[in-house]
Amino acid sequence: MKNYFDLSGKVALVTGASSGLGVQFAKALAEQGADIAICARRVERLEAVKKEIEALGVKCFAHKCDVLNTDEIREMVKAVEEHFGKIDILINNAGVGDATPSEELTDDTWRNVIGTNLDAVFYVAREVGKVMLKNGYGKIVNVGSLHSEVVMPPGTWPVPAYTAAKGGVKMLTKSLAVEWARKGITVNAIGPAYFGSEMTNDILSTGGFDPVAQAYCPMGRAGKEGELNGAVLYFASDASSYTTGQILYIDGGWTAI
Ligand code: NDP
Repeated sequence: MKNYFDLSGKVALVTGASSGLGVQFAKALAEQGADIAICARRVERLEAVKKEIEALGVKCFAHKCDVLNTDEIREMVKAVEEHFGKIDILINNAGVGDATPSEELTDDTWRNVIGTNLDAVFYVAREVGKVMLKNGYGKIVNVGSLHSEVVMPPGTWPVPAYTAAKGGVKMLTKSLAVEWARKGITVNAIGPAYFGSEMTNDILSTGGFDPVAQAYCPMGRAGKEGELNGAVLYFASDASSYTTGQILYIDGGWTAI
């Protein structure tokens, strides 16, 4: 039987793979046979994830990187390229959440959210893009959000900086996709609604999320572990060879209404 998502012989770099969705994406790619490079700031967590990935039967390389620091990004990408000889797939996943109302949002918080969720997505794509352009092949998957498309309804929690950054990720995805479309690189994005992770556990566990999901999410619930993997594998594999510049919302129908 043909496996459209087969990633044997490929090398995938996942940013923000010390917790949450990044770990899930790295494992999903490994299960399809890709060797994996992971990066984040918490090195001990990366080492633990590395062991879990190696247990799946592929190689894993872990490297510390603060994506707010462009020197560290360049160093990390160079180290991954030196280690594996190439980078075929980038899951541009590192990010931070924030739900500060605009009138209380400080310059520092704004810069941190935009810096991590938008600036760094560009900086990492730029550096990995140079490696991919040399090889004439690449699959970039940016992690956007439900908030690339819609904000939170009135009376819930405002996410001004996060929304501005994730909206930017959507348009950056289109721009990179068009620039590199004839050079063997596809650039797409996923737009998850709410999934359990360190970022969202407070919102999901306090009970505040459930009535909002009932009102605004046709499926009436948060996403479950594993429900993003199909979309990531589609964009990361040659199954999506004629798809670029797209964002796929995995949101229980939230953005359909
Ligand atoms: P987590 O907080 O569990 O994971 C965030 C990851 O990003 C961690 O590995 C963290 O690693 C890394 N990270 C944060 N800042 C930096 C930095 N400056 N440099 C390097 N790495 C950094 O949250 P999620 O797994 O939920 O988030 C992953 C992505 O998914 C984010 O882009 C988020 O916006 C997006 N998303 C999440 C949704 C959800 O409901 N969970 C919904 C929609 C989108 P470390 O701290 O070790 O550096």
